[in-house]
Formats: sequence, structure tokens, C-alpha cells
Amino acid sequence: MNWIAVMGVLVMAVSTVRSVSATDSVGDVVLAVHGGAGVTPKGKLSAEREKAIRAALDAALKAGEAVLNSPDGTSLDAVETAVRVLEDSPLFNAGKGAAFTREGKNEMDASIMDGRTRAAGAVGYVTTTKNPISAARAVMEKSGHVLMVGEGAEAFASQSGCEIVDPKYFRTQRRWKLLQEELAKEAEQQRTGSIGDDGVAKLALGAQNPEAQCGTVGAVALDRHGNLAAATSTGGLTMKRHGRVGDSPIVGAGTFADNKSCAVSGTGQGEYFIRAVAAYDIAALMEYKGLSVARAADEVVNRKIKLAGGEAGVIALDAKGNHAAPYNTNGLYRGYVTKDGKRHVAIYAE
Ligand code: ASP
Repeated sequence: MNWIAVMGVLVMAVSTVRSVSATDSVGDVVLAVHGGAGVTPKGKLSAEREKAIRAALDAALKAGEAVLNSPDGTSLDAVETAVRVLEDSPLFNAGKGAAFTREGKNEMDASIMDGRTRAAGAVGYVTTTKNPISAARAVMEKSGHVLMVGEGAEAFASQSGCEIVDPKYFRTQRRWKLLQEELAKEAEQQRTGSIGDDGVAKLALGAQNPEAQCGTVGAVALDRHGNLAAATSTGGLTMKRHGRVGDSPIVGAGTFADNKSCAVSGTGQGEYFIRAVAAYDIAALMEYKGLSVARAADEVVNRKIKLAGGEAGVIALDAKGNHAAPYNTNGLYRGYVTKDGKRHVAIYAE
């Protein structure tokens, strides 16, 4: 063997040995959901809460799957339906149970994207729309715009038939307690002068407890016509500043879908997702570099964002049903359903 052949064998060996730390890299998937990367470390999550979270993820999968199996069920309908189930559950940081800003308010963001047409819709800083994901869909289909925020977005959601609720609806005692704990931690650090430059940077990103930090929900789906869709909804980061908007309503950052590559929904520290244009970067690695969905998602989550210091997880699905769910956190609340109707739910490496 000459040296060129030897090099070739070496390169092949290295590329096959390079581990893809993407978990759940599986095929024949039609729908996947996540409930955020703000996972309590293994062993510290109560059995009761773990059971409830798994049941809620399973319920979202079931609801989305029923849509995909209905005569005219599309991937777009399936992701909206699955995300609505997670928004209505108080267990996740989206819709009911949304995280609090440092002023004690719930300000939510959401987006949805159709992989067939690359149509997209998003809302930011909504405070009274019961299901922000449906407001995002209304923006996509009825406004002529892609992103609407604040009062204008709420008024448009209401005119479009979305349910409007009192802001109190979103409040849960658990999230409120998390905010109080994080505020107390911050006050203590300020008192003792232990917040250095790094601490200040961390505070700008919100709370320090993983559960308080991230918890977005999302879904990606592939329908029988081969069309992909993605949806993401969040209360954002606990202790975020009033008016802060994260990656979840930013198409290309927290959400992306294109039949040519994949559908992606992200969770984690949104500032890192925005700077990395993370969801689109996964699609671009597939489209321009020919990477598999698992390799592309792993590259962005476990290399790009991780090296930049960000905490992240994504669910990604390609048009052939290959699915990956990498995360660089304690875990990722997640689940998927395969073509033959088998549902899988996971939290840690399992
Ligand atoms: N990505 C969301 C944000 O930064 C938070 C999360 O995923 O939990 O707003």
C-alpha cells in the first residue's frame, strides 16, 4: 500500500471512529417533541415529577401522531397540536408554567415553520395569548409578516381567533419559587461581592439553576407527503430582563424547517442559538456539506455552542425520518414516535 492509500485508510478510520454523541439517532421517525434542556440532574428529580413529565411528553406525541394519521393531517398541524399540549401542561416552561422575568412577569415567544414552503410565523413578548404557538401560526398564515411582538401580536392573535387569557393564567407556584430562589442567590452574591465579570455575564443570561434556566417546548414532524415542519414555544429564561427575546421566535436560530434538509427545534440559552444561527446551521451543514442529520446536529450542539460556553439541546428530523436529539446539558426531556406507531420518551442518556 502506498502512503496515499495508507492516509486514506487512516482518514476513513478516524471519521468512522469519531463518536456521534447525538442521542436517539434513529430512523423511521414521524414526530419528535422536547420539553426543554433545563433538566434536573439524574437522581435529583422526584419519581413523581419524572412520571408526570414522561406522561406529558407521551400525551403530546399521541396527540401529534393522531393528527398525522388523520386523513388530511399535515406535519404543520401535528407540530402545532403537540406543542399546544405541552404549552397547556404546567410542567414545562411554555404557556401555562412559563418562566418569570426578574420583575415577576410571564413574557412568551414562539415560532412555527413549514418545510414545504419555508413559510414561517413567530410571536415575541406575548403575555395574554393562551397558546403562543397558534398565534405564531396565525402570523404565518394571515398577517403577511413573519414576526410580530408585544401588543400588536396579541391584538392580531385575538382577531385571528386565538384564546386570550388573564396573565395570571400562566403563573405556577413552582416557577414563582424558582424566581424567588434565584433572586435571593443574586442578592447574596451581590452582598458578598462574589459576582465577578463572569457572574455578571451569567446573570444577564438569567438564573443559575438548570431547571430555572431552560425549559422550552418544541416539536418536529414528517407527514405522509414527505413534508417537514417545526415548532417551538417558550417562557424564555427565568430572571431574564423585561423585554428580552430569545431564540425561540427567531427563525433560523431556535426553529427551522426545509424539506431539502431537516426540521429543528432548539432549547437552551437563546443568546448562543441566535449568535450561532443554530437551527439553520444544522440545515446548512446538511445541505452544503452533505452531513447526516445526526452529525450536523451534534456538530452545532456539542461543538459550536458548547465551545462557545452555551447550554443547548435540539430535536432534528430529516425528510427520510432520521432523527437526532443531542444535548450538552444534564439531559433533555424528549420523545419520538416511529412510523409503526411506537412511542419512546427519554430524559437522560437511556
Ligand atoms: N431557548 C430559550 C430562550 O433562550 C430558553 C429555553 O430553551 O429554555 O428563550
